[in-house]
Amino acid sequence: MFQNLAEAQATCESCHACELGQTRTKSVFAGGSPLAKIMVIGEAPGKDEDEQGEPFVGRSGQLLMKLFAEVGLERERDLYIVNTIKCRPPQNRKPTQAEKEACRPFLDAQLAFIQPQIIVLCGATAVSSLLPQEKRTITQIRGQWFDHASGAKVMAVFHPSYLLRHHSLDAGTPRSLMRLDLAEIVSALGEKC
Ligand code: SF4
Repeated sequence: MFQNLAEAQATCESCHACELGQTRTKSVFAGGSPLAKIMVIGEAPGKDEDEQGEPFVGRSGQLLMKLFAEVGLERERDLYIVNTIKCRPPQNRKPTQAEKEACRPFLDAQLAFIQPQIIVLCGATAVSSLLPQEKRTITQIRGQWFDHASGAKVMAVFHPSYLLRHHSLDAGTPRSLMRLDLAEIVSALGEKC
């Protein structure tokens, strides 16, 4: 559908294919490096992202980037960061199925042009888009590897907004499990390179 990533981004920035185009401040196409081997997919822009036009720059995004940095992965070098939906839903509500379908061409273009080796799904909305057959919860599937049709390895992890509500680092807590999952991603990246 798009000839290249730049065309997809330009189309996204003026898109009104769903009603979110009426209420957004800025569409949020992507952040990080297009050369990265890891693509991180979240749910949708929040207030800060909507204002700045950058993904994962609010409190939860900053926490996620801090956790990635702790395992040696830097936003601008190692990660290509996107959301399932490119415009902020009012009051940060969950995107509707119609909105996800309307926005899907942008995510498909990003997957096709970036060709990531590893895809990290943050939260249930990203899981439902990339692993539509999967009905288990994030808690049940996090840390496991799945195969994407492109050949990429896919792992679901907790959304960082969930981690903001769980501060403990004790064994078995969400933050401790997230650290294990990110370490596993680094390990898998080493095997693929
Ligand atoms: S959410 Fe996606 S489909 Fe809807 S207006 Fe924004 S860019 Fe277009």
